Amino acid sequence: MTSLSEAEVLRSAAPRPAGGTGIHLQGLTKTFGSGRKQVQALTDATLHTAQGSFSSLLGPSGCGKSTILRILAGLEQPTGGTALVDGTTPAELRRAHALGIAFQDSALLPWRSVEANIRLPFEVAGIRPDAGLVTELIELVGLSGFEKAKPAQLSGGMRQRVSIARALVVKPSVLLLDEPFGALDDMTRQRLNVELLRIWTEKPATTLMVTHGISEAVFLSDQVAVMSARPGRIVEVIDVDLPRPRHPEIMRTPEFHALHDHASELLFGSGTAAG
Ligand code: ADP
Ligand code: MG
Repeated sequence: MTSLSEAEVLRSAAPRPAGGTGIHLQGLTKTFGSGRKQVQALTDATLHTAQGSFSSLLGPSGCGKSTILRILAGLEQPTGGTALVDGTTPAELRRAHALGIAFQDSALLPWRSVEANIRLPFEVAGIRPDAGLVTELIELVGLSGFEKAKPAQLSGGMRQRVSIARALVVKPSVLLLDEPFGALDDMTRQRLNVELLRIWTEKPATTLMVTHGISEAVFLSDQVAVMSARPGRIVEVIDVDLPRPRHPEIMRTPEFHALHDHASELLFGSGTAAG
């Protein structure tokens, strides 16, 4: 047996954050509105993911996927239950600028260049922009040469890549992606998923991605959390034990198909091949 390194001793002596590290959702409920207009979006949603892992939320439309992300982003308060990342509340994460968020609609400022859009979180936080990091991220998402371009001059896929770079510029400890490529055609989407995997490998953050796509969820994730129809809860968390690094060819293996079929059964019941 080797003895513990100094770092390991320090780590084991540090106080353990409440709920452990990673994303910790415990018994999350959310009800919108009041009286007869009440909508129960979430009921008892529970999910634990490891620090630095990639997890996906898969579920029918309206089951509360975005609500979970909005709660984690501190944009929505849960009605009940707990949401923590590395023992920290969403409000604290926001204050610490430890959150990276990219949603389906890239929400770029149309009058700002690619570079200036990516730099925006620094300005919002009142921090001096790290020009080197901005350049590095532009390269990482494959947009070198487009630094000065405006969003209207870019394709949909390029705009989503800008929004991912912008989400990463704060070096987030948690990255929240809500159907980041949902509005794109299948081929572009598949290509961008491969890129997303590469980007995440280079800048690993605890990631939670909402998607409709079973294949992309399995391809990207360590864990796929499958939700029920509204009021949403997490029906099952599928561990994706496929080796990394992953290449698109992995989607043709029996192991991949077995995981895909399992998720599909949970979503649609057995006997369907949709996905
Ligand atoms: P998903 O992302 O899984 O499609 P959402 O989390 O957006 O679902 O929504 C879950 C449910 O909560 C839906 O029925 C939706 O209409 C409702 N909902 C979401 N946000 C609000 C809101 N601000 N006010 C009222 N109802 C809402
Ligand atoms: Mg949604």
